[in-house]
Amino acid sequence: MKGNPIAGSVRALVALVSLFLLVACGENSPPSGADAEPSITVYSSRKEHLIKPLFDLYTAKTGVAIRYITDSAGPLIARLEAEGASTPADILMTVDAGNLWQAAEQGLFRNLESPTLSSNIPAHLRSESNQWFGLSIRARTIVYATNKLSADELSTYEDLADPKWQARLCLRTSKKVYNQSLVATMISSLGEAQAEGIVAGWVANLATDPFSSDTTMMEAIAAGQCDLGIANTYYFGRMKKADPSLNLALFWPNQSDRGVHINISGAGVTTHAKRPEAAQALLEWLSSPEAQGQLAELNQEFPANPLVKASEEILAWGDFKADKVNVEAAGRLQAAAVRLMDRVDYR
Ligand code: FE
Repeated sequence: MKGNPIAGSVRALVALVSLFLLVACGENSPPSGADAEPSITVYSSRKEHLIKPLFDLYTAKTGVAIRYITDSAGPLIARLEAEGASTPADILMTVDAGNLWQAAEQGLFRNLESPTLSSNIPAHLRSESNQWFGLSIRARTIVYATNKLSADELSTYEDLADPKWQARLCLRTSKKVYNQSLVATMISSLGEAQAEGIVAGWVANLATDPFSSDTTMMEAIAAGQCDLGIANTYYFGRMKKADPSLNLALFWPNQSDRGVHINISGAGVTTHAKRPEAAQALLEWLSSPEAQGQLAELNQEFPANPLVKASEEILAWGDFKADKVNVEAAGRLQAAAVRLMDRVDYR
């Protein structure tokens, strides 16, 4: 065959393809063990136990392997930015619209044209330019000590600024993006001046310094250090699961006006994704009824796809009206929220 130009071309092509495959595998090599299957890489601030069961299911269905790195949102966003075009990440998955908005601002997501995502995920739970999409919903609501208060004494987030709550309120630190997003959406709905007056009232009502986590804050409420606070529903769910007799209950505020503040966990396909079509297909599947129930249930959250019902455990907390403001406001007004909280000395 020596000298046969066609065979030579075939050999050259095979060599070229082999080289390409080697490069492709090398570039996408997981931290442990190689994988010949087509694969996508996810940077996730969601913990492994919340994503792995779904990724395993997807791999079993499609043969597409999913590699992932988990870390906090800040370091993952910084890493994506530093890696630029050489990033192995096809998807960034994180919590809070404030974080997703930041990543989009830094140009880390691409616009997706996906009728599936646009129909599965309501418009107020995704970016206007379709760069990121909510995949689960958490409510940030009032939690109160059932041995101190009854639900009929509670009404709105604004009411927590009333002097009747003096030395009775607990809050998590303003450094946490969850509170920045809550205040940002209050600015969006009420205007900056009114929002500032309310947050100043909260600070005046604090029983003690802000807490580093929703859980430690709720432990303080349960222990009697204060009577009520504001927390994400899944932290409440975890505590109640561990101790069903715990003297804490949820209250849904603002039911006669804008509704309860909700936020999302979500994801987008990175600007420099090596497998953007495969990455988009994974996001589409995660938004589908097949994945949504399990995705939400793993962290006691609400499905983002309105066709999917929450778990029995979650439904037991009672139905509520959610704020329909686009969660993108949480990012757009984040800097204003941080400045506002600084001005009123919310630490
Ligand atoms: Fe959280």
